[in-house]
Amino acid sequence: MEDIINLCKRRGFVWQGSDIYGGVAGLYDFGPYGTLLLNNIKAEWRRSNVQLKENYVEIDSAMFKEPKVWVASGHVGGFSDPLSECRVCHARVRVDKELGKIGVEADEKMSDTELNTLWEVNNKSIKCPVCGKIDWTRARMFNLLVKSNLGDFTDKGESPVYLPGEACQGIYLNYKNIIDTCRIKVPFGVAQIGKAFRNEISPRNFLFRCREFEQADTQYFVKPHENEKPYQKIKQERFDWYLGLGIRKENLRLKQHTHLVFYANDAWDIEYNFPSYGFDEVEGIHDRTDYDLTQHMKYSGVDLNYVDPVTKEKYIPWILETSAGVGRMFLAFLADAYTLEELADGATRTVLKLDERLAPIKFAVFPLLKNKPELVKKAREVYAKLSEKFVCEFDDNGNIGKRYRRQDEIGTPKCVVVDFQTLEDGTLAVRDRDTMAQVRVQLEELG
Ligand SMILES: [Zn+2]
Repeated sequence: MEDIINLCKRRGFVWQGSDIYGGVAGLYDFGPYGTLLLNNIKAEWRRSNVQLKENYVEIDSAMFKEPKVWVASGHVGGFSDPLSECRVCHARVRVDKELGKIGVEADEKMSDTELNTLWEVNNKSIKCPVCGKIDWTRARMFNLLVKSNLGDFTDKGESPVYLPGEACQGIYLNYKNIIDTCRIKVPFGVAQIGKAFRNEISPRNFLFRCREFEQADTQYFVKPHENEKPYQKIKQERFDWYLGLGIRKENLRLKQHTHLVFYANDAWDIEYNFPSYGFDEVEGIHDRTDYDLTQHMKYSGVDLNYVDPVTKEKYIPWILETSAGVGRMFLAFLADAYTLEELADGATRTVLKLDERLAPIKFAVFPLLKNKPELVKKAREVYAKLSEKFVCEFDDNGNIGKRYRRQDEIGTPKCVVVDFQTLEDGTLAVRDRDTMAQVRVQLEELG
């Protein structure tokens, strides 16, 4: 993972947020290649979840919401991490995570008493990660919502609004608008990609646990008790989506939750085997019953019942949710593509074997020699032509071998070389990233 993080920094995929000020933990900025990769992942996600599905629509809701939304969703009351403080140096740790490290299972759904009993019994063997002493306070729940003062002009912070703790709430809030305007019938799905913010005490593992991140969610609205079949289908589809974009099967698994929140029927995670971190969640697939809409009906006072246009049956639809961390997907695709290869001459090359659809740059165009104006001119023409349809890069710097290595490292599937033969018969030398084999083709044949 350290190598991958270094590559991200060196080649402009991802940088620490506010880098020139020393950086802020849990915040990352995507550089040029990272932004391209991120956008390609989101485009593939949209293609699969919206474009290819007749009964799915996509929305983009405001990040700030009426604060009651977060009361209804349970985030104000219960969206908390259990923390304990070192009495010696005041460092704070996540109690559930520290227990996990010594093989004691604890999670955020346990009651305060249950958790503290476990914590007191076991924390005598847990050293403070900062000062190394063992002297812990009682575990206390710490709310993860990030507050702001939008619309509060008193400067006192008395009526905070919240940044989204999860992106999906916008879908529930617009469920009625969608039904009223989109000629859509249950069962139907709504997709949204949006930002979420959490006051993580210990952001860690690069893009894996951040304070600001992006989520790609779908909510599928079904008739009550007609959840089981579509749930299985959605679960399989989401799993296959990763495989279809090149994730190796041995690095992906489905894992069922052992502890369910009280309203949930079923919950699974799609886990990726991250280098250094091991298997962990990339996407959650949740069978949530009618909880979300019922809560918003209760707190908003608006009737969110659905009336079947044919049978006139009235009900609150049940919801099947898929919720993926976009940064986690990004990291999984990057990690799976990252390859170190030994070449015939003993040298090594770093290659990102990204699926062509995800690769930031599709074609890199080179003139064979920088100092031959006729080659450069022709290469510029090829570059301009290809750029109409694809994200391309022009490079005339250094020898051809070095240019190939630079493109390999960012995952460019094809390098296109304009050489002397091009001037004679119009063919281009096209070199494949993975096989390093070359073929000669006409410009029109590319892509
Ligand atoms: Zn300490």
